[in-house]
Amino acid sequence: MLSRRHFCCAGALAGTAVSFGKAFAADQCVATTQQRQAALSPDDALAELKAGNERFLSQNMRNCDLLAQVRSTAGGQFPFALVIGCIDSRVPPELVFDQRIGDIFSARIAGNVADDDVVGSAEFATKLAGAKLIVVLGHSECGAVKGAIDGAVLGKLTDLLNRIKPAIEANRDAPGEHTSKNKDFVQQVATTNARLAAQGLQRDSEVLRDLVGRKDLRIVAAMHDVASGRIMFME
Ligand SMILES: [Zn+2]
Repeated sequence: MLSRRHFCCAGALAGTAVSFGKAFAADQCVATTQQRQAALSPDDALAELKAGNERFLSQNMRNCDLLAQVRSTAGGQFPFALVIGCIDSRVPPELVFDQRIGDIFSARIAGNVADDDVVGSAEFATKLAGAKLIVVLGHSECGAVKGAIDGAVLGKLTDLLNRIKPAIEANRDAPGEHTSKNKDFVQQVATTNARLAAQGLQRDSEVLRDLVGRKDLRIVAAMHDVASGRIMFME
């Protein structure tokens, strides 16, 4: 007699077969081309990332031939967005936004802080490589935010965590204890930290400011919920 576990496996395999059957549609599996990148507005780019997260949440992700994508992007890349996210293993931008090889730049650093090197990377991704959107992607349960709140000290990590301090300071009047044990406080600081990093990109970079002023670029902050996979944009 088949156990419940066997039924689960059978269901998963059946789902895989169906998914494979409808996959590898050529239009879905070609990474962003130069023409498409040029045609996309910053608002279009944001809409595409939102749609990608919806595909991820509904388990309707594009099922593409990854090596075909490798081959099709070997001669050049035309990503439409840059995601500046945390190194957290639960928040891989390409997966949670259901994007292909060649679709998005991804800069990952603990606490998604925008230090000078990240700002320089953002200038490259947009001004030189044509991306139309920057998303600073914070997330729930962020270890870097927790560490900053608790005043963690460790090697060069100390300086990195200091970049999160303005977000803690901005929430100094928040209720409850201001330690990593207070989930609401951690979430509030993480949200503020993502928003401040997005604002900081424009403040610290004349290149990015100029692109935003000409409406060739949007910079938005967003929060990823590691429990659900849902991404909420702050617009
Ligand atoms: Zn994190």
